[in-house]
Amino acid sequence: MNVLFPALREGSPAPALRFGDRTLSHRQLASVAGALAERIAGETRIAVWATPTLDTSVGVVAALLAGVAAVPVNPKIGESELAHIVGDSAPSLVLAGADDELPGPLAALPRIDVDTTEAPEEPGPALPVEPAAETPALIVYTSGTTGPPKGVVLPRRAIAHTLDALQDAWQWTADDVLVHALPLFHVHGLILGVLGPLRRGGSVHHLGRFDTDAVTRELSGEGTMLFGVPTMYHRLAVAAGRDPALAKALSRARLLVSGSAALPLTDHERIAAASGRRVIERYGMTETLMNTSVRADGPEATGTVGVPLPGVYVRLVDDAGQAIEGGDGETVGEIQVRGPNLFVEYLNRPDATAAAFDGGWFRTGDMAVRDAAGNYRIVGRRATDLIKSGGYKIGAGEIENALLAHPGVAEAAVTGVPDEDLGERIVAWVVAERGPDAGPPPSAEELADHVARQLAPHKRPRTVHFLDALPRNDMGKILKRELHA
Ligand code: ATP
Ligand code: MG
Repeated sequence: MNVLFPALREGSPAPALRFGDRTLSHRQLASVAGALAERIAGETRIAVWATPTLDTSVGVVAALLAGVAAVPVNPKIGESELAHIVGDSAPSLVLAGADDELPGPLAALPRIDVDTTEAPEEPGPALPVEPAAETPALIVYTSGTTGPPKGVVLPRRAIAHTLDALQDAWQWTADDVLVHALPLFHVHGLILGVLGPLRRGGSVHHLGRFDTDAVTRELSGEGTMLFGVPTMYHRLAVAAGRDPALAKALSRARLLVSGSAALPLTDHERIAAASGRRVIERYGMTETLMNTSVRADGPEATGTVGVPLPGVYVRLVDDAGQAIEGGDGETVGEIQVRGPNLFVEYLNRPDATAAAFDGGWFRTGDMAVRDAAGNYRIVGRRATDLIKSGGYKIGAGEIENALLAHPGVAEAAVTGVPDEDLGERIVAWVVAERGPDAGPPPSAEELADHVARQLAPHKRPRTVHFLDALPRNDMGKILKRELHA
């Protein structure tokens, strides 16, 4: 039997979930989630109002125990996206916290309030029989970075596989205490951040919201690992340069992991300079869960997303559909993935599902190169980050990294804009550094020259726009489709 959470079934008294000052042991979690599982048994699909709370975590675990597919709903999404998700996934009821006010489409559904205040230490009723490995466990909507979010049907098999592959790559054990501040409606925060520690029999401390002082406190205490998105590591990188207590806390962490988008090289370097620690990057997506990672026990591979995880097959495919062999570190291809980590289908989208596969291989839409050691370096997304200009194929990420290396630049995004002459021309969007020690903002000319000097003349941005902030989604991902020249 493929047991998803052995420590719950064993009734381990060790801490499992800590949110603020409330902690549930695996045993307590088994009893509250087990009782809730009984109440929802027989449903096929339910929504979970996914605030960053104990209630949400318990609700999702209950659904997993009951074999009911759970749809985590971002509590901050706009009305039209919410209507789309509720209409598309058609849940039969919604789980929420007692104090949560639910908006229109969800308020119309039958509701069960998750109550985590009565969590007995005694073992509760026996947990339901483990559902089959292919049962849909979660329906997670993609981040909506490139278009409207798609509902991704994830079976238990994919979740179990990805978490065990990460155990191997990160030597993740029951002794690890994860420090977590991500939202709980995407793969990163929910599957890796909450279900990961539960599967290991370890624990997670969720901070509610990200704040560098809380990270200092937790990593100076019991915390051993930190999972974050690049915007968080950027804030840590800036703060660690000024705050020795944070630098020391980061230096004590067993593992600092970044994912969901590329971590700029400047942030890698600043954190390493302040703390002596290297952030490791992993690469995954809602449809495939985790594909590659820099290994905790492997060589340093900063600037790459590491090697394929155990059991996952990764290939690079050129525009002609041919697999690229070897590792010259230069030839760009699309990353395609095959393995037990893959989703089943996009909900209600058989055409999109079919289009996403090339034989058994899932087309990620992400472009990368492979180096001689087998590490993948992501160049960007095919749709938005690969600029075809003057006969060259230029990765936006490389230019973004070059811009960020300029002391006057705080944030940068690069896009390609149609151009009669060049096919596409390179356009940079920059947020100037405004910190207390920032000098006068750089000129467009100076930044364009800087890129041309650092990289090559044909990578020089033709236009540089200055913005107050870049448009980002709730995971801090830059929304390039909202940048219009
Ligand atoms: P949508 O599919 O709705 O446009 P999305 O692709 O951002 O949104 P997710 O499934 O949450 O939705 O994100 C997966 C994507 O995130 C990957 O395809 C990749 O582009 C990016 N990504 C994840 N990890 C990394 C990483 N370490 N480095 C660079 N990009 C990453
Ligand atoms: Mg995507």
